[in-house]
Amino acid sequence: MKLEALTFKGGVHFDGFKSLSNQKPWVVAKAPSVVTIAMHQHIGAPCEPVVAVGDEVKVGQKIGEAKAFVSTPVHSSVSGKVKKIEKITTPDGRSCQAVVIENNGLDELGYEELSRSLDSLTPEEIRAIVKESGITGQGGASFPTHVKLSVPAENPIDAVILNGAECEPYLTCDQLLMENQPERVLDGLAIIMKAVGAKEGYIAIEDNKQQAIRILREQNTNEHIHIASLKAKYPQGDEKRIIDAVLERHVPSGGLPMHVGVVVDNVATAASVADAVLRGKPLYERLVTVTGHAAAEPKNVLVKNGTPMSYIVEFAGGFKVQPGKIIMGGPMMGISQYTLDLPCVKGLSGILCMTEEEAKPPVVTTCMKCGKCVDVCPVHLLPLYIQQRALKGLYDDAQSLHALDCIECGSCSYVCPAKRPLVESIRLAKREIRAKEQRVR
Ligand code: SF4
Ligand code: SF4
Repeated sequence: MKLEALTFKGGVHFDGFKSLSNQKPWVVAKAPSVVTIAMHQHIGAPCEPVVAVGDEVKVGQKIGEAKAFVSTPVHSSVSGKVKKIEKITTPDGRSCQAVVIENNGLDELGYEELSRSLDSLTPEEIRAIVKESGITGQGGASFPTHVKLSVPAENPIDAVILNGAECEPYLTCDQLLMENQPERVLDGLAIIMKAVGAKEGYIAIEDNKQQAIRILREQNTNEHIHIASLKAKYPQGDEKRIIDAVLERHVPSGGLPMHVGVVVDNVATAASVADAVLRGKPLYERLVTVTGHAAAEPKNVLVKNGTPMSYIVEFAGGFKVQPGKIIMGGPMMGISQYTLDLPCVKGLSGILCMTEEEAKPPVVTTCMKCGKCVDVCPVHLLPLYIQQRALKGLYDDAQSLHALDCIECGSCSYVCPAKRPLVESIRLAKREIRAKEQRVR
């Protein structure tokens, strides 16, 4: 199979503003004097703190225990003393306990550095290490990785796709990771393939990252791993779209990748899997893209978990103009922030600093039935009609128009010449439909 110019139907092309931050090497942020480590950094149940105020902790030491299968532990990112345990809100809107640690600056390790061979490990052992190391998806959804790797026997997996599309504008942390540490990504893919019993693995990368594609192809020595080049188009990084593009398999409505024999993970997640399995390193730091036209010096920064976002922005060079809006992640699917006084979590891929001009709300006009929203919808929905029903409170009608299949990519709103807030209306409809389903149960 030729793995070039792969794509899906629908989607949008836009200026990715990637060059703001991808032209320079990443920098390692000095750890702050205090980190605030959230106990809920993933989809699923929160962790419970296993340290108390006054305890001494070390880098990589477990400080939050997962008490459910869909949950994953949390580790300290610094060495020092637990100052307090308090309730906080995370940048992704979770309200949870957090362990606040005063950094003693000694960077004492709380885990054993290993040099482990993959050959010696069974799939069960890999999953156990991945869980204990606190690995979650780092592409946005923060799904506990060991859960994805625990595939039921009735869904045999024959392919793993690593998502290196990074299709959101502005973000470049995955690109820099693939260009600079390809061996971590390749090792991680081989480990995930073994964990799920997949024969073939793919790293799927948009063709606006030619250097990453070239480097990974040069470095790859595994004949069962393939580097796929995707057309740069949003939302190419959505897992159903990437499966469609790479393998031409269609995940049914309401289905999961495993239903078509596939597991999809992000490239940064795979690199963390390699760190954990081969070197014994838990997940306590990550690359974050600090970017946008209000940022003075956009760049990628390697950051300790629990570092305040305000510290990260300051470390990267601060603002050049007053920001009008700050977003965790990219502009299409990211989450607007009301303050920068919140700590870095495992799912923080970027801090996007938009100018006041860029953040101005658009003037909304009447739908002119141009059909552009329909043309771009990657799920083949009718966004204008779903919005129409949602605005009238006709949620049953919205459901029959398959509102629940909407992946909230925002492509329809982006292209709409009338600037209609389509995705917001569809999100509301989804919430109401789900609430009704809950009431009926
Ligand atoms: S793109 Fe906007 S104006 Fe055009 S049909 Fe859709 S909602 Fe209406
Ligand atoms: S309807 Fe949903 S899936 Fe379709 S373009 Fe809009 S936000 Fe994306």
